[in-house]
Amino acid sequence: SFRAIRVVSDEAGRRAETVTLDESDLHEGDVTVAVDYSTVNYKDGLALADKGIVRTYPLVPGIDFAGTVESSAHARFAPGDKVVLNGYGVGESHHGGFSQKARVSGDWLVPLPAGLTTRQAAAIGTAGYTAMLSVLALEDAGVTPESGDILVTGAAGGVGSVAVALLAKLGYRVLASTGRPETSDYLHALGAAEIIDRTTLSEPGRRPLASERWAGAVDSVGSHTLVNVLAATRYGGTVTTCGLAQGIELPGTVLPFILRGVTLAGIDSVQAPMERRIRAYDRLARDLDLAKLESMTTVVGLDEVPAVADRILAGQVRGRTVVDVNA
Ligand code: NAP
Repeated sequence: SFRAIRVVSDEAGRRAETVTLDESDLHEGDVTVAVDYSTVNYKDGLALADKGIVRTYPLVPGIDFAGTVESSAHARFAPGDKVVLNGYGVGESHHGGFSQKARVSGDWLVPLPAGLTTRQAAAIGTAGYTAMLSVLALEDAGVTPESGDILVTGAAGGVGSVAVALLAKLGYRVLASTGRPETSDYLHALGAAEIIDRTTLSEPGRRPLASERWAGAVDSVGSHTLVNVLAATRYGGTVTTCGLAQGIELPGTVLPFILRGVTLAGIDSVQAPMERRIRAYDRLARDLDLAKLESMTTVVGLDEVPAVADRILAGQVRGRTVVDVNA
């Protein structure tokens, strides 16, 4: 038997509880993994708060994990292999990472890249892997350090912190937008050249085109922030969109696209093809400063997850939170 967090919905209502499960409680899959670490992402906050993520009850939430294969009927994996999982509906419709054990399809697993421990892979987590997908999208669009400054919104959050560290290491001049001025030392240490007060971007009613300030941006905030980011993107620049921390709406105009040739690149981590995942993890192993990764990481136990989940929705979590499921 093993410990897990489970969300249940019955006559007594909906609640998250720490329970003891056994293997017969796990969902179908051809690989069983002894989980070392899971993590708390914004989406896990939504799942625990019953905001439209959980698709089946009871469910073990946790959209990612890193651990060691215990048994496998999958051709690519054998007992002892270290693996990482992000998305594929895990923690939404399939039991997830807030558990000492997980059973999943081997098709969803990424082999742990050489040079990373399972703890570091979890510190990266879905947020950090999505930050890398965003950087890859900028590169694929031809944005280089010579193109000009790159803006990162929600910079003190999980996606934002990893994006700042990655872009700085790759030689970009990074502008970090945050609503928390107290994180400015932290953001400078990750490599931000300038801190921008997020209220200058998050307010509605600004002009559809502003003076050109950045060659590209990594946005995890959405809503008015994304509209204002697009409005100040330089001619031919690219902005990535992965998140909705401010909101899901996009209340803007087409002018940045049709007058400045700006590109808006959508980023999805959940169903990203395996070859893109492997490319992202290879690049993370190469281009992410592991001391900076450590500086953005807080480790908690399973029992602390619900409290962290509340705080991440309130925008109060800095960097990344790793869950040591065996603590
Ligand atoms: P997070 O750690 O909470 O980071 C979000 C950051 O956004 C916060 O730290 C805060 O940064 C900023 N923020 C929060 N509320 C805001 C508001 N009302 N207005 C403006 N800024 C606000 O969450 P995360 O795990 O990094 O995820 C970030 C977003 O990306 C979430 O929406 C998540 O669902 C999304 N995401 C999507 C994918 C995908 O596959 N598309 C994958 C991963 C994550 P400051 O305090 O620095 O301002």
